Amino acid sequence: MTILSTDLEKAASFLKEGKLVAFPTETVYGLGGNALSDNAVAGIYAAKARPNFNPLIVHVASLEQAHEYVEFSETALQLAQHFWPGPLTLVLPRKKDCKLSLLVSAGLDSVAIRIPGNDFALRLLQLCELPLAAPSANRSGRISPTEASHVMEELTDRIAMVLDGGSCHVGIESTVVDITGKNPVLLRPGSITIEELGKLVKNITPATEATKITGPGMLKSHYAPNHSIRLDATDVKQDEGLLAFGSDVPAGARMTENLSPTGNLEVAATNLFMMLRKLDAGEIAGIAVMPIPHTGLGVAINDRLQRAAAPKEDAA
Ligand code: AMP
Ligand code: MG
Repeated sequence: MTILSTDLEKAASFLKEGKLVAFPTETVYGLGGNALSDNAVAGIYAAKARPNFNPLIVHVASLEQAHEYVEFSETALQLAQHFWPGPLTLVLPRKKDCKLSLLVSAGLDSVAIRIPGNDFALRLLQLCELPLAAPSANRSGRISPTEASHVMEELTDRIAMVLDGGSCHVGIESTVVDITGKNPVLLRPGSITIEELGKLVKNITPATEATKITGPGMLKSHYAPNHSIRLDATDVKQDEGLLAFGSDVPAGARMTENLSPTGNLEVAATNLFMMLRKLDAGEIAGIAVMPIPHTGLGVAINDRLQRAAAPKEDAA
């Protein structure tokens, strides 16, 4: 799947005019807008119907560009140099003269920032010469999009353009690490695991209840399908849809999607949101999900599944 240069140029000029463009990243599709413009950023919150106390991730094309907006500690620099471009978001202190819209920080004195590891996203960032605020391109509380068609289902009438770069290969949102305090804190698990981060930086800890409230990924219910979700299912009812994992799959479900028949967690992460969407669109009474091992990428997958299964009244 490729994106024509003319489409990238068209998208870049929309962004320069303050309009919103959805684009592929390696994690999920992002809903991009000029991060320097209050109007554009307010437009993102409105298009997603996202509560404006939930800060957005800013995407940049280079480390040099990131330095214009945030302060890098030695730890932060080490992580950025090792993992960027890639699915790692760093929460860093805003610089004093930071020109990013305050709305991206939602009142905090920090910014979540990353360089995406997707060639189309990078070319778009270079062409528009802007930092782009880009949360996942879904309506707030819904499943993150991993294909352009998912974005169109929910946002077509609210944005200027969707760039179709095919399926996102990581498939779940970036790992988020807060480096504003004494020790780094893992705010959101993702495809870069705490073990990988731990090889580079000491004292990294998972978020506690006290640090968990800084963003929408931290709310109990997020990434929610319409149907109810039953986790750790070892059997399945006739009227249920089954989200399977591995080769030993219980029979009898009305429909089955297998995250990875060979039990590969990377493949499972890539397929997760796409398969949840497929099951959610089916004529079923609920979605049963087989147990996923809680190791490596399985931690991030289980994090998303738990949020998908949480009662809706907790959703934002
Ligand atoms: P999304 O853009 O939908 O992928 O979600 C952005 C995520 O980044 C949220 O879930 C927050 O956890 C995190 N985040 C963004 N900005 C900040 C910030 N300034 N401080 C802490 N967390 C942030
Ligand atoms: Mg999101």
